[in-house]
Amino acid sequence: MSESQSTSSSGEIATPHVENVDKCEEFAEPEAKKRKTSNKSEEKKYKLEDRLGGILCCAVCLDLPRAAVYQCTNGHLMCAGCFTHVLADARLRDESATCPSCRVDIGRSSATRNLAVENAVSELPAECQFCAGAFPRNSLGRHEETECEERISGCKYSRIGCPWRGPMHERSEHESECVHPKRSGADVMDALQVIDQQMAEERKLYDSIFDLLGCEKITFNDVQLKPYRTDEYVHRLFYESSRFSAFNYQWVVKARINNSQKDPTQSSERDMSYQLIMKSKSSTPLNLSYIVLRGPVGDINVKPRIHEFEFTEQSNESPYVKLPLPDTPECNRLLAATTINFRLIMFSK
Ligand SMILES: [Zn+2]
Ligand SMILES: [Zn+2]
Ligand SMILES: [Zn+2]
Ligand SMILES: [Zn+2]
Repeated sequence: MSESQSTSSSGEIATPHVENVDKCEEFAEPEAKKRKTSNKSEEKKYKLEDRLGGILCCAVCLDLPRAAVYQCTNGHLMCAGCFTHVLADARLRDESATCPSCRVDIGRSSATRNLAVENAVSELPAECQFCAGAFPRNSLGRHEETECEERISGCKYSRIGCPWRGPMHERSEHESECVHPKRSGADVMDALQVIDQQMAEERKLYDSIFDLLGCEKITFNDVQLKPYRTDEYVHRLFYESSRFSAFNYQWVVKARINNSQKDPTQSSERDMSYQLIMKSKSSTPLNLSYIVLRGPVGDINVKPRIHEFEFTEQSNESPYVKLPLPDTPECNRLLAATTINFRLIMFSK
């Protein structure tokens, strides 16, 4: 089960002003209180959780880590995604990895986890995407999936064709007057056929994944995409990974938003597509199948989808294919985070 977490709070982290704040809000003088409430943004800037967010964030991507937090021997914090990225880059350059903040050597054995920071971050509030209430990060997933009264739900008669979707608290009222239970068996057949078809497609997908597991060569890489801007007149956002090696070749993954639409902010629908680029020269064609999965360090919510491409000397770039995200909010959540982490599994026959 994937826990979707809002990252909206990380975008507004104020720089820590520890020395300026000598009083808790509860103990502030009435005048000070008045001054604070009269200026909302000022108040926000001094909120304890925002200040902590600025202190506990990853030193590389400045996001609040969602999983493990690592630190160098000088105590600089890195999220798991950035940490593995630093290690992978160093391996590719055949150098020893160093802390991006202080350049001290880091590695799997010299860097340590920081459980206190992990626990502290999980207690910091994040916003529910449905009701906009603030909840500790460690319980937000449960709230959004099972507790929030504003979460989007479907009618219990959806299996027999009711298309209703709405907030949870309106569901029982809708179900009491839903017309679908009174439809005839013949009417219901159409809906059942759609379900059968979906099931068949799913089964086909899993069968092909099991087929791929029998391939001669299989490899996986935990890829981190970072945002860049094109140098055109109107800068367009795109994502690129650093190089990684697989099957003795060098590779890069690129991704773009809404197929490089000129101004994706004009569109309410968002999607992301990616391509695989072979950076080394290959004298023999290489037929590859590949799948993007969540992996151990990210929290991307993708469905498994297999793509295939034959890389040759002339065509070393696969076409762009959709990253199978469930919806626009998930795409926006990825855009709000600084880096996108996923696992890319590659199969060669
Ligand atoms: Zn990071
Ligand atoms: Zn350091
Ligand atoms: Zn909620
Ligand atoms: Zn209904």
